[in-house]
Amino acid sequence: MATRLTAILLSLLMIFAVVDSIQFVEIADLSGRLSDASESQGNLSRLESELDRLRLDLDEIRRSMKPPLLAIRIDDVQDYYQNNATIFLLQYAADEGIPLNLAIIPKYFGLDQKVVGAVVSAIQNGSMVMVHGWEHEELEQFSEAEQEKRMLDGKNRLLEILGCESTILVPPIYSFNNDTILAMSRTGLTTISTYIDDQDPGLVDHGILSVPATVEMSILVNGSWYTKSLDELYDEVVESIGVYGYAVILTHPEEFVTDGRIDQEKIFTFEVLIDRLQIYYAFTTFDEIEAIVRSS
Ligand SMILES: [Zn+2]
Repeated sequence: MATRLTAILLSLLMIFAVVDSIQFVEIADLSGRLSDASESQGNLSRLESELDRLRLDLDEIRRSMKPPLLAIRIDDVQDYYQNNATIFLLQYAADEGIPLNLAIIPKYFGLDQKVVGAVVSAIQNGSMVMVHGWEHEELEQFSEAEQEKRMLDGKNRLLEILGCESTILVPPIYSFNNDTILAMSRTGLTTISTYIDDQDPGLVDHGILSVPATVEMSILVNGSWYTKSLDELYDEVVESIGVYGYAVILTHPEEFVTDGRIDQEKIFTFEVLIDRLQIYYAFTTFDEIEAIVRSS
């Protein structure tokens, strides 16, 4: 009996020993894995901080590599006439976060609450307004004094309706002369914006700066607007930036209207062009483009 009991006790002791050794192996294994895990954790933390550092470097590179600047100038902004297209363009730009440069015909602006509301929102989103004559007249037909009066009337009307002090003249129908430049200097208009074919960028007389549009969105032939192809427009922007250091795309609300309705095909071209340009360029207002012209 004693022998049998001893045998059982011995067996139990062996089982405990085996269980113990298994536990020991498992504990050793576990602690090994824990140490591996903590090493991995350490590696991960190091990688994470390295990644944070790289992200900061990338932000710094992005900041230092400012993309070339572009501006969109929309001429003939006015009450009622083609106001669906005007409102569409302003709304689209606001949705895309693009500031615009709006050449307003002052005499015909201020009564159409839809247009005024869209322009006010555009200004709140960073857009600028410009004086497009007084009533879309050919300025060179008038004396210097008369031009001065028309410019002042235009500036004052925009100030009264929008609360904005305008400093840029967009002469309607590209019509201007030396008296226009003199009249500008006397009325607080400091920049003239025509089209590149009519005047080069740079300083002109009386301290007035010329910042012409360099790309036309469409061409007017026998009273109808023909929108250029996407590739043509894109190439012209690239060329303009190469030659002048900036591009100003000129368009008019009525370019987007065919037979009294908004032309979806033209709108599509405009939207795709904006999308393509936004990849490599930044849209801005004339104050930044003026700085480029002054420094070149
Ligand atoms: Zn015009």
